[in-house]
Amino acid sequence: MADRFAIFDAYYMFASLYHGGQGSKEYAIFGRLDRLGYKPGLGASSQRPERLSEDAREVFDRLVYAHEAPARAKTAKVKAKAERYLRLIGSFIERASESNSGYQWQFRSMLQDMQLHYNGYAEPGYTDPECGIVATGNWNDITNYVDGTRFTLSDIPSRIGNLFEKLGIPIEWSDEWVSCSHCGKLVRTEPDSMSWHPSYTMGEGEIWCHECDEPDDDSDESDNESEESDDESDETEGQELDA
Ligand SMILES: [Zn+2]
Repeated sequence: MADRFAIFDAYYMFASLYHGGQGSKEYAIFGRLDRLGYKPGLGASSQRPERLSEDAREVFDRLVYAHEAPARAKTAKVKAKAERYLRLIGSFIERASESNSGYQWQFRSMLQDMQLHYNGYAEPGYTDPECGIVATGNWNDITNYVDGTRFTLSDIPSRIGNLFEKLGIPIEWSDEWVSCSHCGKLVRTEPDSMSWHPSYTMGEGEIWCHECDEPDDDSDESDNESEESDDESDETEGQELDA
């Protein structure tokens, strides 16, 4: 059972990292702690939960878990709806295949292409959506050419894309994004502007997003706080790998 100092530390850390501005209820925690005579020590004011005592950390984790409950509930709801849409298309395709089999492969590959991702982005300039879900797919209408004329077989892809967007799910093109092999976050692999450059690295068939930090890469992203000092050997390890 945590003593009151551990509890105070936990609340202080929680308020520091999760307050939503001066009017927020998390910010009000500072005032309450102050009135109780609490003065944060170095650990509690470090903004690094890993520096809390074990007891304080436990309390802190519970506070964060409770804080994120509404977001989890929202994600679950949106996820259920999005998955339902995908199931509906699946059964639509099955039904359609009985009557009109000629274009089945196009519908199937459209459906195969559509994927929901739950780990967010690891691409600079992109913020994770509130619902926590991103969809990738081919959102172009399904078309065909007959005698040199293009005609639309189905606009299901763009309609599904619109439905996803209404749910708050951003839609991305499946041929422009891949998931990091380590954290599952999405990284862009195709340029979307002149100034774009890849933020990921590839090694041994794996994708490393810039957050997962491929070992022999010493790129310029230095505002990601560097880890403890025992990481200083990175550079020599990188050289060994290059050799
Ligand atoms: Zn990653």
